[in-house]
Amino acid sequence: MSAQVHGFQTEVNKLLKLLANSLYSNKEVFIRELISNASDAIDKLHFLALTDPELTKDDPVLRIRIRADKDTNTLTISDNGLGMTMQEACDNLGTIAKSGTEAFIAGMSDDAVKNSQLIGQFGVGFYSAFIVADKVTVLTRSAKVGAEEGVRWESTGEGTYTSETIKRDQRGTDVILHLKDDAKDFLDTWTLRQAITKYSDHISTPVELYEEKFEAPKEGEENKDEKKEKVFEYVQVNNAQALWTRPAKEIKDEEYKSFYQHLCQDYQDPMTWSHNRVEGELEYTSLLFIPQVAPWDLFNRDNKHGLKLFVQRVFIMDDAEQFLPNYLRFVKGLVDTNSLPLNVSRELLQESSVTRKLKKALTKRALSMIEKLSADKEKYAKFIAQFGNVLKEGPVEDYSNREAVLKLLRFASTHNDNSVQDVSLADYISRMPKEQSKIYYLTAESYQAASSSPYLETFKKKGIEVLLMWDRIDEWLMGNVTEFDGKEFVAVTASDLKLGDLADKEEEKRTQEAEKEHKDIIERIKKVLGDKVSDVKVSSRLVDSPSCVVGEQGHMLTAQMRRLLEATGQ
Ligand code: ADP
Ligand code: MG
Repeated sequence: MSAQVHGFQTEVNKLLKLLANSLYSNKEVFIRELISNASDAIDKLHFLALTDPELTKDDPVLRIRIRADKDTNTLTISDNGLGMTMQEACDNLGTIAKSGTEAFIAGMSDDAVKNSQLIGQFGVGFYSAFIVADKVTVLTRSAKVGAEEGVRWESTGEGTYTSETIKRDQRGTDVILHLKDDAKDFLDTWTLRQAITKYSDHISTPVELYEEKFEAPKEGEENKDEKKEKVFEYVQVNNAQALWTRPAKEIKDEEYKSFYQHLCQDYQDPMTWSHNRVEGELEYTSLLFIPQVAPWDLFNRDNKHGLKLFVQRVFIMDDAEQFLPNYLRFVKGLVDTNSLPLNVSRELLQESSVTRKLKKALTKRALSMIEKLSADKEKYAKFIAQFGNVLKEGPVEDYSNREAVLKLLRFASTHNDNSVQDVSLADYISRMPKEQSKIYYLTAESYQAASSSPYLETFKKKGIEVLLMWDRIDEWLMGNVTEFDGKEFVAVTASDLKLGDLADKEEEKRTQEAEKEHKDIIERIKKVLGDKVSDVKVSSRLVDSPSCVVGEQGHMLTAQMRRLLEATGQ
């Protein structure tokens, strides 16, 4: 059968024009797209082979291979995945496969087509091959059909493509890029290796690069200058293990630790981590880490932070700060989602409702990871020492999680009488006497200043705990939060401080002790006085006098008042 000529769908032509106009300066994205497609084809076959093992029997090791040929100026990306039938090739490589993208492009004006910023809003996919190639040849065969039903597809990206049935022994797809003059650097093994590693390290399929074999000279051969023939071989260049895609319970702590070191380029172990997979409307896997030590620039405006973003296991970008609020900027890790397009840009991320949903979900994950950590007092003390002050930005920045973040904060307090910040608001509340309804705090310049403040005297005397704060952010924090767990925050320096209803704890304690001690004598006094008095009580109010008469309400009566009362017959 001879080759047939087909016209591209209108939208494809638009897309091709758009690519030429916009991705010129970011050529290497084609590597990402083509590896991603190869990996998808392998994933699909892998999945089908679960129920039909015959499909992969003849060639069971699934892999992606990349080979540069300087003689023909071609770069070939091959996979032994699912492949395509003739129909599939024409459908997938002649139209825009994704209906959303298609509609989007169809609605674009010619002016918009020239606007490079829009490129990030849809998956450029396969057509990105034309960024670097002036001709693309695809040789493919579906795993479901025989060798006679191979397909040769070819296009120069100028409105038409050709298709032809060929004989092809192996299943899967070769995408052969005839490189443009200005893209020849992709023939260089080193450049290729860089690009491949960058975009495919965590693709679960091995990606192999055709490279010159390095052979150590054999002994005695060092000085022989007879020319040896160059030997090439396929060498795996990626890690081929997307750790986060494995079930959490199968992953050892050691694996998480070394993965963290690799991902975050930190030579220390992480303090803790949290690995979650969520399926359903919003699909994502997240692997979040807290480092042992805060980066030096944590409070620097230019501090780079954010998660690594993967879409369908393909690396998209570093430092995607859109997925966590600023006060959690110390959290490292990655999010891998199927809910965003592969070619998502930072601009699109900013606007996407998927991003907002992910941010909400990941914030909850991060907070619950920190809460779990707080169960380990020793570890949590280290965490607070490193990140406590950043976390204090939370209640103000993130209104919806205000209560949850407040719960995670720790403060110094008069209860401990030292400068260690290890008292939670819950601790404080649990120690509050029944009559106390507010949370008292004091902000000062330093711990010294706070702990020796004269404002504390009344509270000490009354046995009321006061939280002590002296970090720069504290004043701001306390100025912006009003309550926790329904209890109002009140500065001990407040002018309208009302402590009236609070029992004097120390006094009460002394009284109780005295009551016990003087039980016998009180009984005797009661007997002697009989019904001349309603009760006899021990009191610590008197300093010099041995006893006094008080009214029913407990008010101390002066002798003069008593006489007045007697005169009026009461
Ligand atoms: P997407 O990957 O987002 O679907 P692409 O433009 O990258 O969009 O690819 C279009 C379609 O072409 C894919 O959905 C797939 O069906 C097909 N395709 C592309 N590359 C391959 C390949 N290497 N093997 C099998 N099918 C492929
Ligand atoms: Mg694709």
